[in-house]
Amino acid sequence: MKLEMIELEHENNQNLASRGSRLKLSQSDIVLLEDYDQGLQSFQIQEVREDGNGLFYIVVSDDYPSHFLNLYTGVHTSRLEPSWQDMKLWYQVQRQTKVLKFFKEQGISSKHLPEIIATGRIVHSGLCEKQYSKGRCDNTWCGTPMLVMCPAGEPVSSIVAHNGPFSAEETVRCCRDCLAALRSARIANIMHGDICPENILCVHDYQDSRKQSLFVTVSWGRAVLEDKDSPSLNLHFSSSHALQHGKLCPSSDVESLVYLIYFISGGAMPHQYSIESALKWRQKCWSKRIFQQILGEVSPLLKAFTDYVDNLCGTPYKVDYDVWLKKLNRVVDSSVEKGKMVEKVLRLKDVAESSGTSGCGNSL
Ligand SMILES: [Zn+2]
Repeated sequence: MKLEMIELEHENNQNLASRGSRLKLSQSDIVLLEDYDQGLQSFQIQEVREDGNGLFYIVVSDDYPSHFLNLYTGVHTSRLEPSWQDMKLWYQVQRQTKVLKFFKEQGISSKHLPEIIATGRIVHSGLCEKQYSKGRCDNTWCGTPMLVMCPAGEPVSSIVAHNGPFSAEETVRCCRDCLAALRSARIANIMHGDICPENILCVHDYQDSRKQSLFVTVSWGRAVLEDKDSPSLNLHFSSSHALQHGKLCPSSDVESLVYLIYFISGGAMPHQYSIESALKWRQKCWSKRIFQQILGEVSPLLKAFTDYVDNLCGTPYKVDYDVWLKKLNRVVDSSVEKGKMVEKVLRLKDVAESSGTSGCGNSL
């Protein structure tokens, strides 16, 4: 990768400067980042993406040759406006960095959780006239915080939008992977607080396409670490407790997980206009056992899990992650075994067919 600095909006565009959320990088730009611990690092933009949380970038780096990474750009604190969009960026970059660092300090690591590759501030082209290390000069990009994470993947929301509902096997695996991420976080006493299809990435192993994709729970910026933290409020995916009280109860994340797997299985999600209508919808679906009905068609285990969550909702009781992970693992592993059997049979068939052809050739 050729290292060259990007020419970023050098002219003083006041409008742009005051709206940090509009800063945009383009494909093949090279971004130089000053990481607080690791010094300068460079990343090249491969793809510009937009999800419910705003713009983000798929990048590559010479230091991580076979990986695609996610890069998020934030807003310098002095440029933050209390607008909804700016606050989203702050949660996505600064707050998420704090939470992921906390995971690391606590020794929590899991293939279902994202990992920080680099975090720091962008180095802009031209002369930087900032007065102190965390300050900024007049350059629009000066001091913009950035977070680079691995792995990169496709949000579940966009997969459903393009390909429709998930298969039963994928739905169970998604549930298992999300629950594994939530359980790891719980060890550090952290709740996610924003489980929704935008925040679950489906990650493929590009080096081994036969390997199954993996679901990784991202966007930990709204995580609840202490009582004063408030979760994100999502009319479709937040728990009833979060919508009612603006706080999480111990089962809030798994309640959101039920809504998530219901959604990816093709369950209907009517438009919600207000917290009241969202609460009414939840109440109606739970009392008529609609979640259990739809998820029961996917798997008896998901139906049982939904019943378990139904009994736990709003109570102070802890979620028994281990028991449900064990059950889900058993179902996922048996379907992997079944997949392997099918593959084996197909391979045997291939061998038989090709040897048949060569046999024919020999006889000529
Ligand atoms: Zn500067």
